[in-house]
Amino acid sequence: MEADVVIIGGGVVGTAIARELSKYELKIILLEKEEDVAMGSSKANSGIIHAGYNADAGTLRGKLNVRANPLFDKLCSELKVPFKRIGSLLIGFNEDDLKVLKEKKENGEKMGITGMKIVSGEDLFKLEPNLNEKARFALFAPSAGIISSYEFTIALADSAVINGVKIYLDTELIDIETENRRVLGVKTSRGFIKTGIIINAAGLFSDNIAGMAGDNSIEIKAYKGEYHLFDKKWGDYVNHIIFPVPDRKSKGILVTPTVHGNLLIGPNFYAVDDKDDLGVSSAGLEEIYQGAGKLVSGLDRRDVIASYAGLRAKTEGDDFIIGHSDLVKGLINVAGIQSPGFTASPAIAEMVVDLVREYLAREKKQELRKKDYFQSELAQRPVFTEADLDEWDELIKKDAAYGEIICRCEKISKGEIRDAIHGPVPARSLDAVKRRTRAGAGRCQGAFCAPRVLKIIAEELGLKPTEITKKGGNSRILLTETKGLLLQKGEYHDD
Ligand SMILES: Cc1cc2nc3c(=O)[nH]c(=O)nc-3n(C[C@H](O)[C@H](O)[C@H](O)COP(=O)(O)OP(=O)(O)OC[C@H]3O[C@@H](n4cnc5c(N)ncnc54)[C@H](O)[C@@H]3O)c2cc1C
Repeated sequence: MEADVVIIGGGVVGTAIARELSKYELKIILLEKEEDVAMGSSKANSGIIHAGYNADAGTLRGKLNVRANPLFDKLCSELKVPFKRIGSLLIGFNEDDLKVLKEKKENGEKMGITGMKIVSGEDLFKLEPNLNEKARFALFAPSAGIISSYEFTIALADSAVINGVKIYLDTELIDIETENRRVLGVKTSRGFIKTGIIINAAGLFSDNIAGMAGDNSIEIKAYKGEYHLFDKKWGDYVNHIIFPVPDRKSKGILVTPTVHGNLLIGPNFYAVDDKDDLGVSSAGLEEIYQGAGKLVSGLDRRDVIASYAGLRAKTEGDDFIIGHSDLVKGLINVAGIQSPGFTASPAIAEMVVDLVREYLAREKKQELRKKDYFQSELAQRPVFTEADLDEWDELIKKDAAYGEIICRCEKISKGEIRDAIHGPVPARSLDAVKRRTRAGAGRCQGAFCAPRVLKIIAEELGLKPTEITKKGGNSRILLTETKGLLLQKGEYHDD
């Protein structure tokens, strides 16, 4: 197998790069070790499209955030991903905080962010009636927004696939072959791929990937952030993204509505050694509950429907590392993409295209040529909760599967689940279906619909129910057929 470019990692960064590069005459392969895209940091984060006043103008984090923020309206309309520009409020409680708010405003304005203002007193409580009564000031930034991070990542991947990118899931990069410090190809869990250019977008593991090529200049440390997600009855509790004054480590514990109408609080911030450790701790969850309580009053933990954690990929220098490896020709590192990496992803992708263009011109005397046709739009899939009921009636007349509600909490039909299973990047597990359709994401967290979704996946993919997993690997849900069934078939031996 051979490709012009191999991208390692199906997070928001790898998939954004894949889509941007698919506008050009290139053979592109993206490798993802998990069974789906959006399984790393791009799955579990705050889902905020930041205005961009936090990082300094001189950093990539600052520049790329500000460049990318305005791109989301068009991108999300093309990719049919829900995005709401609801604005953010950075809350201050005293004069020291006010000083920080003013500094942030000045920093943002220097970078070209418009519309920011300081609000205080009654005006503040008109914007947010449920704020902690001790709140006195806020920096309002209208350009901040909310998005579903995994839906955006999946849509980027779908778009890349319909524009010719090959995405190999369940395919791990194991080693990189080089000769005279130049990339020759990649060894994967499914065989060798010859290539001249590797884009290392492997998130927490991008230091290992660079190391495989002989570039040991990167070190990534994992920092955990935990969250509580509240039931939809809390979806209107705040109108904006509510931030505390940040400390030197992170932006702090925030309170925000989600794009699907829940309320999210978190994340905290602490180092972990295991880069696969996504567990939540009672101490951590208490910390975020207390932290959120400093911003808003009256939260009730009994309405928490899910708790989860994500891991940030941080470097010592704290900025993104994006560029040609100094040590290996053909290796482009896109590493240390911590927050605001999600927001910055479209601008990171543009920057990487420029790096590929420059490399091809310099090393291969080759021009990066645009394709005659790039399909920017994804088709709008039917979504029951957003549909006009007359139109939905028509749809059911054509296909009865759209009339069979499988997930009662989120009102998801069999037709929507079936569409997800046969999408450009197909959903093959319960969680993959949940990320695409929200079946199982509601109040009961799949207690009702999980067996039904499992049956649909098995039927659609022609697999046995025992082969279906929660999230790939060895996460099978049904371990064996029941004794009764086996006895009927005469296959059960009681030993
Ligand atoms: C708690 C938290 C909150 C955050 N909040 C925000 C926010 O509100 N707004 C914002 O802009 N940013 C936020 N971020 C940052 C944002 O989530 C990240 O910047 C972004 O998701 C990074 O994407 P990525 O593609 O680089 O990494 P990932 O999403 O981790 O993707 C890397 C992929 O590489 C794959 N991979 C690794 N090794 C291999 C291998 N050997 N072979 C094949 N595949 C491999 C992994 O499986 C993974 O899927 C937050 C992050 C965290 C953790």
